Amino acid sequence: MKKHYMFTPGPTMVPAEVLMAEAAPMMHHRTPQFSTILREVTDWMKELFGTEQEVFTIAGSGTAAMEAAIANTCSPGEEAICVVGGKFGERWMELCRTYGCRVKTVEVKWGKSPTVEQAHAALTETPDARVLCITHSETSTGALTDVEAIASLTRHSETLLVVDAITSIGIHPVRMDRWGVDVVVSGSQKGCMIAPGLAFIAVSPRTWDVVEQCSSPRYYLDLKAMRKNLQKTTTPFTPPVSLIRALHKALEMIREEGLENVYARHALLAEATQAAMKAIGLSLAAENPVNGVTAVHAPEGVDTDKMTKKMRDEYGVTIAGGQGDWKGKIFRIGHMGYVSAEDLLVAVATVERALKELGYEFELGAGVTAAQAVLFDMA
Ligand SMILES: *Cc1c(COP(=O)(O)O)cnc(C)c1O
Repeated sequence: MKKHYMFTPGPTMVPAEVLMAEAAPMMHHRTPQFSTILREVTDWMKELFGTEQEVFTIAGSGTAAMEAAIANTCSPGEEAICVVGGKFGERWMELCRTYGCRVKTVEVKWGKSPTVEQAHAALTETPDARVLCITHSETSTGALTDVEAIASLTRHSETLLVVDAITSIGIHPVRMDRWGVDVVVSGSQKGCMIAPGLAFIAVSPRTWDVVEQCSSPRYYLDLKAMRKNLQKTTTPFTPPVSLIRALHKALEMIREEGLENVYARHALLAEATQAAMKAIGLSLAAENPVNGVTAVHAPEGVDTDKMTKKMRDEYGVTIAGGQGDWKGKIFRIGHMGYVSAEDLLVAVATVERALKELGYEFELGAGVTAAQAVLFDMA
């Protein structure tokens, strides 16, 4: 018997209750019954975004919301600043270029977080930039960005702050309104504990003026159509009814645990994973790590592509390797969404087992012991 666990930074494990909700018989979307679900899901997502503004749900993976953010704000020829410190920062850059923007990049060494000084310098150099695009939780490196600090700069400028919060929604506190963020995007297969296929976007009041004037073509991703329809508690096109019902269940579970408890659980899982990796002599890839995934430098001589394949195929435990320049060199343990303290011990123990078999020398069990010390009060 092999039992499968996914400790990946998306898609993540889905609770059985949520799978059952997704499997319910089809419901027509132009009905009061579906509108009630859509209204609740939207109101509950606002709590995760920390906003009073509407959160629009789009059929598509997280990137659909990223594209909606750019397509609705950036016109061809305008300037865009993109912070690039990993694969997802690169995605902002590629998207802005695709929409004809002149992109100024703020290069951040992989594993580091952008500084306020870097953001300040870029905004000073490019005062007419339409957007500043950042990644709250850079999943490819595990590095966290101080969104609040950067928002304190953009809120006094004409430049809109656009934030990829795809692996922070439901994991880290996101306070869109309080921080003064203009656009926040997310996806369903990370902290929201459901299958891939939904993307989310919320925009600030001042962003609508930009949306009105934006000349980029868009049809399926037109925010104005989404707003007009949500005012009637419906969607412009057929929504993925089953996924939205799954999300309704997942958000019920999140609300039952309590959002602040959900954030605290992720912080604890991150702290335990970090302690475990240090206890077996490894170092973290990110200077200022996120709470949804822990990226770890592999020991000398261990190829993480081999390590993750072994863990998945032989032990049934999936973690992620590295991307880009870090392919084969780091491994990433995802602990976002439906992950308990007990689950985490499976991840840590299996990482230890794989490393041992691949020839890395350390005291077996040291990581599990360190994780337990953080997770459980065993005085
Ligand atoms: C997963 C992820 C995305 C979105 O990827 P999709 O495959 O389109 O869902 C974007 N940004 C970050 C930081 C992510 O972790």
